[in-house]
Amino acid sequence: MHVLVLGAGQLARMMSLAGAPLNIKISAYDVGSESVVHPLTQMPIVNGKAVVDDLASAIRLADVITAEFEHIPLDILAICEESGKFLPSAKAIKAGGDRRIEKKLLDDAGVKNARYFVIQSYEDFQKAIEHVGVPMVLKSALGGYDGKGQWRLKEAGQADAIWAEMAECIAATKNQAIVAEEFVPFGREVSLVGARSADGTVAAYPLAENVHTNGVLSLSTAITDQALQEQAKQIFSAVADRLDYVGVLALEFFDINGSLLVNEIAPRVHNSGHWTQQGAETCQFENHLRAICGMPLGSTRLIRETTMINILGEDTLPEAVMVVEGCHIHWYGKSQRPGRKMGHINVCSADLDSLQSKLAALAELLDQAAYPALHEFAGKS
Ligand code: AMP
Repeated sequence: MHVLVLGAGQLARMMSLAGAPLNIKISAYDVGSESVVHPLTQMPIVNGKAVVDDLASAIRLADVITAEFEHIPLDILAICEESGKFLPSAKAIKAGGDRRIEKKLLDDAGVKNARYFVIQSYEDFQKAIEHVGVPMVLKSALGGYDGKGQWRLKEAGQADAIWAEMAECIAATKNQAIVAEEFVPFGREVSLVGARSADGTVAAYPLAENVHTNGVLSLSTAITDQALQEQAKQIFSAVADRLDYVGVLALEFFDINGSLLVNEIAPRVHNSGHWTQQGAETCQFENHLRAICGMPLGSTRLIRETTMINILGEDTLPEAVMVVEGCHIHWYGKSQRPGRKMGHINVCSADLDSLQSKLAALAELLDQAAYPALHEFAGKS
């Protein structure tokens, strides 16, 4: 099988690594440079003697097309959908890339999410304050991720100051809007990553508890909580069935005293599922490929307690990290930029107590400034 991935970043890279043992070959279309590359080497793809450097040839060559991100130009999405090879679907990708469509999908699926109001003008903003109330969280409908394109309105008096920035954001992008959301006083954030195959079979991973720092994921730990898992799985099925989804889908939730509210969806493999590479019987990348290639899904069973630590903005690790038993380093081969997702570490152990000890050992080796969430988490025992 030959899979073309829209996007040539770390998710395509990890799909490539997971696909190789199943003889699934991956090529990646870098939307920025408009080139087709191998996701591990970033070098051109060769088919026989011909270099495959344009999207049309790559589409012809592929058995299946998928995506590693949701902010895909609509013309490219349309061409891929027309080929009849694209999975999950343009509809699912659009729901992940536009908060208005996402909110409507959640409402249509009968799934609880934060109260909201769509803003396009100052008058809308005033109505949103009435409808949603303060404090509120404001998010750009298009293009926002990892906490970017977001504002917090703590009291109505700050509205004019924030409006200047929001108006600029709306004007900068065609069809842009701001989605105002009630501020949710959640206890913690969890996510469910699961795979759905074309016949409707769902295989969900254990929930992950996620810690964000400045809107960016820093730690994910697989958790066992049967009641919460069941609730999450029902919501997952409601959303995935509505989309007739094929592939891996991630749902991010706010946990309010055991009641789940959907924050957002990601129609793709997800950062909060990277722990599955070492912590689950079959990792999310393999299960995504199995689903879209029409193969049976693999077991999502937890095989050992695992925490994933994101490496943000750093391009080296102390060698001693490699010596900590159960520690697995995954670099993405990217050039360094402050705050950029450069890699992650999966830390595994037989039980939660020994996992906590390993996290404490890692906190000794890693700088507090670069890994604040790890230091906080490790200090909790
Ligand atoms: P998002 O890009 O929607 O995932 O938002 C980034 C982070 O902002 C989330 O992981 C939450 O920590 C926080 N956040 C987003 N929406 C809300 C909300 N409605 N209420 C409280 N916190 C929020």
